[in-house]
Amino acid sequence: MLNVLFVASEAYPFAKTGGMGDVIGALPRAFTKDVDARVIMPLYSTIPKKLRETFKSLGHLYVQMNDKFDYCGIFTCDYEGVIFYFIDNEAFFNRPALYGYFDDGERFIFFCRAVLDAIPYLDFTPDILHCHDWQTAAVPYLLTHQYRMIFPDMKSVFTVHNMKYQGVYDFDHINGYLHLGFLPSDLEFYGRINLLKGALYSADLVTTVSPTYAEELKDPYFGEGLEGVIREISDREVGIINGIDESCYDPRTDSALTIPFADSDNKKAENKKALQKHLNLPIREDVPMISMITRLVEQKGLDLVANVIHEILQMDIQLVILGTGDSVYEDLLQSVAYNYPDKMSAIIGFDEPLSRRIYAASDFFLMPSKFEPCGLSQMIAMRYGAIPIVRETGGLKDTITCFDSKTKQGNGFCFATYNAHDMLFTIQQAVSLYTETPELFQDLIKKAFNTHSDWTLSANTYLAQYQKLLGE
Ligand code: ADP
Repeated sequence: MLNVLFVASEAYPFAKTGGMGDVIGALPRAFTKDVDARVIMPLYSTIPKKLRETFKSLGHLYVQMNDKFDYCGIFTCDYEGVIFYFIDNEAFFNRPALYGYFDDGERFIFFCRAVLDAIPYLDFTPDILHCHDWQTAAVPYLLTHQYRMIFPDMKSVFTVHNMKYQGVYDFDHINGYLHLGFLPSDLEFYGRINLLKGALYSADLVTTVSPTYAEELKDPYFGEGLEGVIREISDREVGIINGIDESCYDPRTDSALTIPFADSDNKKAENKKALQKHLNLPIREDVPMISMITRLVEQKGLDLVANVIHEILQMDIQLVILGTGDSVYEDLLQSVAYNYPDKMSAIIGFDEPLSRRIYAASDFFLMPSKFEPCGLSQMIAMRYGAIPIVRETGGLKDTITCFDSKTKQGNGFCFATYNAHDMLFTIQQAVSLYTETPELFQDLIKKAFNTHSDWTLSANTYLAQYQKLLGE
């Protein structure tokens, strides 16, 4: 049995802001045998009370941060067969949101140190620490440079879920927390400290979340300044596509849905009706509903949408957007929705149950990303019978292929160039298939329902990589 401790800043259902939370909630469960995978994460005050009530204390210790010692409580729980550990510190994690604070660098270096200090207190000895994104990037760095004597054989795996976020801070602000006297070259980034760079150099294996993104990262357009490092370490970098938890995203059993449905019945239409009613949109079964559920940031192609939104709304469609993020997009979408009350609804916020009702109600799911490491939303959308319209990049390219009405090959609608009018043209094609050849559209929906994006294959690929790392 191989022991793997997932180190992450979020995991569904405890805390989630995006796809990484889904991944950490699902992947450990996908290892049925051979791997005992557990998770360690911060104990945020936002974790639902019902879940927090199941936590048990394992004790506490003090973590050295610069010249002070910070309290660190350790809690644990068993959630649906997976053991979770939680690092508690009120000053760092009793906040209304997970990220976005002036001291995020300090908060997550504390978390990383606390994880390494807490390991001897756990009833579990990891062979591998599998760390995710910049918030945990100090773990491979500290393991290699400061904790090697304590854990001589422990390996580290680092997964890049999004290269855009690297944890870059001024040396003077965080050097004390990393116990650094000078700025070493494997952390240095334009005179500052780059935590993600340190992880890329220190981890025994670097993975990213799709084969296409693994290649794209070598290119300056995607590499966010670290493309040279990725090229340098490419012999220990692999791309492994994410999956989704198909039991969690199942329209037959999803309690968030107004009317749970199966591919064989006609109840998806009732979900559309219920959502139209809820959002005050005209109740029409025949109108194609296009949705987006997303962080409202440039990465997700919001500038393309903004560019041609009036043209999109000239079509006989309904557009539903749920998201939160940059205020420029939030304001724009709200004002356009205000001007097209019969065609568009923009809901600003993060709302898990509503997101599921939107997937279930929609005919199309729009994801025109500028870059997309993997993307889970397109897979979730297909589970609920919403056909993806995507730009061919990263994981979108690996999961969605263009539908060809002659050969009936393909499972969605795609465009290659990051261009608003290419996107508009693709949306028009999708809408015309819906209205003019409904029988072809129904075939596409059936195909979406029958697409399996579960974790089995990817979990086996991770297992093979873990075994290789340990020389098994
Ligand atoms: P990313 O991780 O880049 O945000 P993904 O497509 O990988 O994008 O994953 C997004 C996840 O977050 C999906 O589960 C999606 O349904 C969910 N999500 C995004 N925005 C919202 C929102 N405003 N409300 C509820 N869920 C959301």
